[in-house]
Amino acid sequence: MAKTYTKSQHAFEEAKDLMPGGVNSPVRAFKSVNMDPIFMEKGKGAIVTDIDGNDYIDYVLSWGPLILGHTNEKVVAEIQRVAELGSSFGASTLIENEMAKLVMDRVPSIEMIRMVSSGTEATMSALRLARGFTGRNKILKFEGSYHGHGDSLLIKAGSGVATLGLPDSPGVPESVAKNTSTVPFNDLEAVKEAFKHFGDDIAAVITEPVAGNMGVVPPQPGFLEGLRAITEENGALLIFDEVMTGFRVDYGCAQGYYGLKPDITCLGKVIGGGLPVGAFGGRRDIMEQIAPAGSVYQAGTLSGNPLAMAAGYATLSQLTPDSYTYFQKLGDRLEQGFRAVATEFDIPHTVNRAGSMIGFFFTNEDVTNYDKAKTSDLGLFADVYRLMAEQGVYLPPSQFEGLFLSTAHTEEHIDKTIDAFRETFKQLKS
Ligand code: PMP
Repeated sequence: MAKTYTKSQHAFEEAKDLMPGGVNSPVRAFKSVNMDPIFMEKGKGAIVTDIDGNDYIDYVLSWGPLILGHTNEKVVAEIQRVAELGSSFGASTLIENEMAKLVMDRVPSIEMIRMVSSGTEATMSALRLARGFTGRNKILKFEGSYHGHGDSLLIKAGSGVATLGLPDSPGVPESVAKNTSTVPFNDLEAVKEAFKHFGDDIAAVITEPVAGNMGVVPPQPGFLEGLRAITEENGALLIFDEVMTGFRVDYGCAQGYYGLKPDITCLGKVIGGGLPVGAFGGRRDIMEQIAPAGSVYQAGTLSGNPLAMAAGYATLSQLTPDSYTYFQKLGDRLEQGFRAVATEFDIPHTVNRAGSMIGFFFTNEDVTNYDKAKTSDLGLFADVYRLMAEQGVYLPPSQFEGLFLSTAHTEEHIDKTIDAFRETFKQLKS
């Protein structure tokens, strides 16, 4: 029987009058899949339920944070326990020390950490720190990478490496945009070229170690190592934005997986276990520049919030190296199953993966950067999206977002998902 979305549709009609575009964050509007947004009511494990009572296998997981699935018992119990004690003090609490130690234990490049309340705050603060520490102005980032909506990071490429960045949104001043340069991901030559032009004013290169906001695009062999070497040679800092990849790609984050040490790391999503959190941390001599130890200002009323720390701590402490072996196994199954059915129905496809981050593209090109990601057939993506939702599979409603797995996903969920892809492709071809 066809699903109905009546309650969601009514709720969206009302929301459109209340919030810009009817949402509190743009991608929730489902614009690129040509359907009204689905309003969610509850989740348990790998399953999410909308307000019309439809169940879905969830591959969005709140855009990554819910690595243990929805309403994990221990996470919920910890949030409840801590809520009884007080939701916020604006003063230090013991759990902040515990959280700092836990993160630093798993990520050796983080010698000191500062908690914030979102990934955006983490990257904005990391850039200010990099500029304050180096006394330089410019930032180098990669096309198609997303690092939150801070002014310095909402920048698109100019017409060549040597050009200055252009604002990606009204409201970002040109005077800010000109200090951010953008080059293609996985292109070390372009990075070298940028350093040739303004290397002595580049404070930092910021990258997602595995790009996750142009769909999933892993680094090619040598790319991250090259960034490490070039930044070191030129006195610039290397910032890994691990807001998405942190504790998702591996037990020690993507940097553990690839065996690299950035100067600063940004975290978010998983470390908050579904509550609002971000963090940035790194080399002690750099972090000591942050106020009140140093003079680079950064602060937050709710930073290190006890509820968020409790949810994050309960999440991280349930993850073990075995969790990532499990993700690898489930990811292999999903990837192979998808490839098989796409091939069976002659659907152009490419699959990129980094552990439990998975990106499907409807193109036969190798997707190594944003331009390649854009070769995906977006119309086909939208059609596939709606048919998959219809069969109870909730995918991220944009081609340029990755799918995520949780420890609550099982082989049975994966097999149902592959069956849904088969049925979807069958319907599209008939
Ligand atoms: N960096 C990356 C790599 C992200 O994926 C995101 C959000 N998807 C952010 C930063 C911004 O985080 P937030 O939405 O929590 O501000």
